[in-house]
Amino acid sequence: MRLLLVEDDEMIAETVLESMRRAGYAIDWAQDGREAELSLGNGVYDLVLLDLGLPKRDGIEVLNSYRRAGGDAAVIVLTARDAVDARIRGLDAGADDYLIKPFDLDELAARIRALLRRRTGQKHPVFTHGELTLNPAAHEATKNGELLPLVPREFALLQALIDEPTRVFTKVELEEKLYGWGEEVGSNTIEVHVHSLRRKIGAEQIVTVRGVGYRLKRCE
Ligand code: CA
Repeated sequence: MRLLLVEDDEMIAETVLESMRRAGYAIDWAQDGREAELSLGNGVYDLVLLDLGLPKRDGIEVLNSYRRAGGDAAVIVLTARDAVDARIRGLDAGADDYLIKPFDLDELAARIRALLRRRTGQKHPVFTHGELTLNPAAHEATKNGELLPLVPREFALLQALIDEPTRVFTKVELEEKLYGWGEEVGSNTIEVHVHSLRRKIGAEQIVTVRGVGYRLKRCE
């Protein structure tokens, strides 16, 4: 899952970035409205955390133009306590949810999970695919009921695959889901993660589609 944080307050941004990375998300940071628009233009995000009071371009304008251009990432608007009007305008401009500053990081994480679940049409908080389950809230994955000892990138990789279990992902698409800007990604990084994930969940669980990429094995 790839997130974008749009926030001009450095203190807030650093706290959110650190907490989301610890939760296993790839997250990028845009510090003003223009940077947000440029970042959103590349279409890789699943969810956007959008502050409304921004330099260069107002958050509502950013959201309006993003939605008009067909942008469909889930959007959580971050606003000040007394800004009822801004929250209403945010929701009307196409935000899916809002949080009032200062917000609790655990609440933010729970709302992100809820929106990502809704986005993938998954009402149940636990993903199931054959013998595998993945619980994003508990950060736990199991095979036949046994807990799998996955490191965060392996967990993120499994989450990407299980999210759209019939889709074949290219290496570039997986890199975009697992890494934010400025993170060093070697040419064989995804192969290395696939290899180590296969060792833990069973090689047969991830199918290599020659010349294209990877997907989960089909289940009846
Ligand atoms: Ca601000």
